[in-house]
Amino acid sequence: MALLLCDLDDTILCRHDAFVRWARAYVHERGLPAAEAEWLVELDQDGYRPRDEFFALVAERDGLGTTPDDVAERYRLDFLRSFRCPPDAADALTRARRAGFSVAIVTNGERRAQEAKLHAAGLPQLVDAVCISEVEGFAKPDRAIFERAAHRCGADLAGAWMIGDHPHNDIGGARAVGARTVWIPNGRRWPEELPFSPDAEATTFAQAVDLVLGS
Ligand SMILES: [Mg+2]
Repeated sequence: MALLLCDLDDTILCRHDAFVRWARAYVHERGLPAAEAEWLVELDQDGYRPRDEFFALVAERDGLGTTPDDVAERYRLDFLRSFRCPPDAADALTRARRAGFSVAIVTNGERRAQEAKLHAAGLPQLVDAVCISEVEGFAKPDRAIFERAAHRCGADLAGAWMIGDHPHNDIGGARAVGARTVWIPNGRRWPEELPFSPDAEATTFAQAVDLVLGS
């Protein structure tokens, strides 16, 4: 059985799209002008702004007596539920399984957060296995998490493919267990100092799956 391993964050799912969805809902719910959502997106800095600072600035801005804790609560409840699987990614997962691949999602992160995103995006029913690092006790690039995913699919790592956006964790980790790799750069350049490189690059997850299916 052929095996396709897939990273989750910024490979199948797009954090930016989820954040925009959350920001629009937050602004709408509070009766703020729609343009405020753009301000929130800028403030977020793609998640790199420390959350405490983010919550404090959002609370200060809306002038409705909102506290940073109120914002934090809305964020914790709603943001993870704002993830959606892009339709072309869902189609690609279905195509891969129809073509005879077992598909596993292999993701580094906390159980609660990763499960919330997976369920919001409807992904568990589109794949054969999910390995979350906190649940498994191993994180990419540790070979043990790739082996766990293969075992759970009843498939072999020999001849497997991995699609991911993280040079070290996804591409390096998968190469070390003998898998071929497709890298999704998300606008970055491959770090040339690494002693390995991916077998292919693709702009989107759907394109990456097509490269695998055409190989
Ligand atoms: Mg990723």
